[in-house]
Amino acid sequence: MQEIERQREQVAAGLEQLARLMQAQAWRGEAGRPMPPVQASVLKLLAGAGPGLRAARLAERLGVTAASLSDTLKTMEAHGWVQRRPDPEDGRALLLQLSRKGRAQAALKLQPDQGMAGLLQALDEADLAALLRSTQLLVAEAQRQGLATGLRTCIGCRFFQPFASNDAARPHLCGFTGQPFGDLELRNDCTEHAPADAEDFAVNRERFRQRIPHIAE
Ligand code: SF4
Repeated sequence: MQEIERQREQVAAGLEQLARLMQAQAWRGEAGRPMPPVQASVLKLLAGAGPGLRAARLAERLGVTAASLSDTLKTMEAHGWVQRRPDPEDGRALLLQLSRKGRAQAALKLQPDQGMAGLLQALDEADLAALLRSTQLLVAEAQRQGLATGLRTCIGCRFFQPFASNDAARPHLCGFTGQPFGDLELRNDCTEHAPADAEDFAVNRERFRQRIPHIAE
């Protein structure tokens, strides 16, 4: 086996350990009620979703199928955390939103020392920037392999221009804000995100992966 394959194996083992930790709800001292990670993710997403989200869109944002999310939503409705109301833009559709009880649970899960965020307290800025870059690449690869859609990362955004700025500390440009930014400011769930078309996505993914400076066309 080549050295790089051995290294990938070790990284995969580490990521799988973390995933198992999440699945086992092994967080010690986590505030609020222990719950499966997908329920915690629904709470966090709906807490930042303004008037609410349709179930299909929520599933897309989570990278799961609507069918697999259905039981989770039923459980959360039974707990009184999630409620449905008509979508003002289409009376036949329903929006999911948090109830008062759900917002209280979400606030506990969003505390900076909770869950994964609590573990990330151990990383300095350089490590966080490297991890943000890596998660962008991993999500992009998952999208390329057809494993996920609807995630709102910079790489998948039509406003993203990797390595398009002359500022070495902030090498990327965001076409939405018009500002350069560095890896530490990469967004994994950005409200201003607009999906890139397939061709731009492929070009940006390679440019970002290989750190190729942007050449103005
Ligand atoms: S709009 Fe958001 S997701 Fe898109 S490039 Fe700018 S910061 Fe990244």
